[in-house]
Amino acid sequence: MITVLLFCLLQLIPLPVEFTPEQGVCTADRITVKQCGRSFKRATADLEAFQKQEAYRLTIKPGSIVIEALSTEGEFRARKSIEQMRLTCSDLPCCTITDWPRFRHRGLMLDESRSFKGVEFIKKQIDAMALLKLNVLHLHLDDSAGWRIQIDSYPDLTAKTAWRIGWDYFAWEKGGYKLAAEGAPGASGGFYSKEDLKEIVAYAAQRFITVIPEIEMPGHSMEVGYAYPEVLCTTPQGRVRKGAWDLCPGSEATFKLLESVLKEVMDIFPSPLIHIGGDEATMKTWHDCPACRARMEQEGYTDVRQLQGYMIRRIEKFVRSHGRRIIGWDEILETGVPKDAVIQSWRGVSGGINASKAGHEVVMSPNTHCYYNYYQDLIRKEPAACGELVSLRFTYGYEPVAAGMDPARVRGVQANLWCEYIPTPKHAEYMLYPRLFALAETAWSPAERKEYKAFRRRALNLLEAFRKIGYNTFDMSTESDLARSGMQRFPPEGVPIIVDD
Ligand SMILES: [Zn+2]
Repeated sequence: MITVLLFCLLQLIPLPVEFTPEQGVCTADRITVKQCGRSFKRATADLEAFQKQEAYRLTIKPGSIVIEALSTEGEFRARKSIEQMRLTCSDLPCCTITDWPRFRHRGLMLDESRSFKGVEFIKKQIDAMALLKLNVLHLHLDDSAGWRIQIDSYPDLTAKTAWRIGWDYFAWEKGGYKLAAEGAPGASGGFYSKEDLKEIVAYAAQRFITVIPEIEMPGHSMEVGYAYPEVLCTTPQGRVRKGAWDLCPGSEATFKLLESVLKEVMDIFPSPLIHIGGDEATMKTWHDCPACRARMEQEGYTDVRQLQGYMIRRIEKFVRSHGRRIIGWDEILETGVPKDAVIQSWRGVSGGINASKAGHEVVMSPNTHCYYNYYQDLIRKEPAACGELVSLRFTYGYEPVAAGMDPARVRGVQANLWCEYIPTPKHAEYMLYPRLFALAETAWSPAERKEYKAFRRRALNLLEAFRKIGYNTFDMSTESDLARSGMQRFPPEGVPIIVDD
């Protein structure tokens, strides 16, 4: 019996801080929430405030299920543990669990620009996140491949750029980056209305998940210049529209647009953090643009890269004046940004290490370990993907607090799902599960309790449960179980992108 009980209890992902198996199985359905006992209060007395907020004790006996928690959020996490055990075990095993999270930021980013997936898809992933005790959904809402959020003050952002010619991102690239209006022949895409987004925010909030919106700047912004050319650089020959990836940091029109957009974004999203992008600006047009040159002269700059710092700091000030903080990709660290800004490390872990040393809070989402748009198994077995191999084993082994980092500055860890190779909801789920299980355990469970072999067994069971409740998952039973291998960065020609559909 004990073997069966241990087997059942160990199904939980993420693994709890403490668990004690007891004799028997529970036949009660009703869950009782009772006042916290002295023993639970003692166990949680020295925790950080965010840990106390989510801490719970679950006591399951043959005839009763009792939750103790210091907040409704803690109670919610306990209920999700029960729900997950019921999904993976035929009988609820008697046990005591005492549990709280390791990190305050346990996130997933979905790229809605490169492939628009819609409200139902997002709600379904929020349900999965809640089951895995994740608490941050980061939505990448705009990029050159499509603007996805209704903005009343700049309606052409959606009217002219929420659709594109070609659902396949690479066909769209080859076809000359053609953006379109709704209903144009061959147009594919869509956008979220304010009502849609408020619905998503409320749905997430009921599950204690914060939605962080991202508005990209100054790079990844071709679509903005297409809708409103006044945000583009000029040359003596006129505006540079062809291949214009960056916004013009010299032009006041750029700031007028960004501030109007951010104002409307902050009205929709109550998140204390607002993501302002900041990655991969080419800065190519800034050298020759009179407005950029004038800005450089006025600020005493000698290098165009300083213009990126100017833009990020000015936007940071604007966001701060509205009572929020910015979070941005690790490039923003290089051109100067106030300490209050949170840095999201994506180019490996070095950005996170440097940011932590410079006194910033960091969110770790290194592409080497946390990009779930990368391959999860051998190229010949997988649909076309971007990047190298991030196998389940490899991502599970990731430790967010690297040597030289102050643990107190690491807010948490996040998985990112960029969608240029991921055109459908089914394909997105295939890339996320089971790897998101690994992320959840890294983000919640104590590092010293992590052990891959046992995790893999639990992941196999939870994956089966996920399939039963309607998620399309990777097939772990045929997985090559690779630690890491040197793989080519991009798929060979002709490998199909679609998983199925
Ligand atoms: Zn310019």
